[in-house]
Amino acid sequence: MTRSGFVLSRAELVCDDIPLSAIAAAVGTPLYVYSGATIRARYRALDEAFDGYPHRLHYALKANSTFAVVQLLRQLGSAVDANSIWEVEVARQAGFGAADVVFTGVGKSLHELAQAVPLGLRAINVESPGELERIETLAARFGLVARVAIRVNPDIDAGSHPHISTGLRINKFGVPKDIARDLMTSIGSRPHLKLVAIHVHVGSQITSLAPLRSAAAFLAQLATELDARGLRLEYLDLGGGLGISYDGADVLSARDYVAALVDEVRSTGLPIVIEPGRSVIGPAGVLVGTVIDIKRRAEDSDFAVLDAGMTELMRPALYGAYHRIEPVKAAAGGTRHYELVGPVCESTDVVGRDRMLPTLSVGDLVAIHDAGAYGAAMASNYNRRPLPAEVLVDNGQWRLIRRRQTVDDLLALER
Ligand SMILES: *Cc1c(COP(=O)(O)O)cnc(C)c1O
Repeated sequence: MTRSGFVLSRAELVCDDIPLSAIAAAVGTPLYVYSGATIRARYRALDEAFDGYPHRLHYALKANSTFAVVQLLRQLGSAVDANSIWEVEVARQAGFGAADVVFTGVGKSLHELAQAVPLGLRAINVESPGELERIETLAARFGLVARVAIRVNPDIDAGSHPHISTGLRINKFGVPKDIARDLMTSIGSRPHLKLVAIHVHVGSQITSLAPLRSAAAFLAQLATELDARGLRLEYLDLGGGLGISYDGADVLSARDYVAALVDEVRSTGLPIVIEPGRSVIGPAGVLVGTVIDIKRRAEDSDFAVLDAGMTELMRPALYGAYHRIEPVKAAAGGTRHYELVGPVCESTDVVGRDRMLPTLSVGDLVAIHDAGAYGAAMASNYNRRPLPAEVLVDNGQWRLIRRRQTVDDLLALER
């Protein structure tokens, strides 16, 4: 392979050397394409950055749980972080064992907990005293000891978008520090519970080291306190959140990120768990769309209407997220100003605002970059739009890993 990932080769975008236009011609658009080489490289970069320090990567399934992606990560040695009992089920069907799964999530229903407790997962990451009681009651009923971690809200500002910050007291996530301390102490005398870890996750798309470092320091300090009281943990779960570069600017490297975590935690001697989602899969995927209409917006600007919009990639509509967009084949000729919009009946269905691009024509393919995380996973059927097809390029070949949904698939649930 010349260069892995999504690069220009002979004036056309390829994925691990395979032209996106060839895949789109065979599968149609809208279409997600993932680079196996990029997934492998990004997973390994995080894994190797620990440099011998005991650790486990629990890939956050919610970023992208398309089955073949999950299976590839399992081959690479990853464990998983599941955010619902249904993600736990996907992990199990992909071959993960109970000890490979941590179950997180701010609202686990009684139904979900009743299914999770007997599985003996590596940990259920607990979000409240009430949830801990529900787990305890279930464990007692099943006659077993539930392995739990307490997710602590450290009251740290992740500095990312308010919609994806989770570590402040005002956010709904985790147990406030003081309550968490009492809860942990109480577990010592509750025979159906075993405290195996403490957990923080302060947000997503974090681009500065400070909040990640503070969260790790906070957890290490808490572990030291617990240790002094005779409560020995098995590991520290530092969550996910490492940001990626959506606009091409420099971001934290895997190496610097992991070095900071290890630096803060080393004195405890405890193994580290991290739950990376976006940083593994985000840059490994593009959403390919077709220009289906061009119309005048202003004297010097056009709307380019794509067949890919908020139903396929919700992030721009949801948080005003920026994604680089470029034509799959650069046309010879000038550039023009565009507002790239989706086909859905919502004014927020804009995938790229205010862009200068090579002149586009109806029928042209465009690639929306860094769409591997929180892209396909958040897609919806609004306007009865079928969920898009997904393709994985790996080992020199591409294959359809999720066929495009059909209206019959949808109606099958209603007949
Ligand atoms: C969403 C989430 C993650 C993954 O976050 P990324 O920013 O994608 O790395 C990890 N842990 C928990 C608890 C989460 O909710």
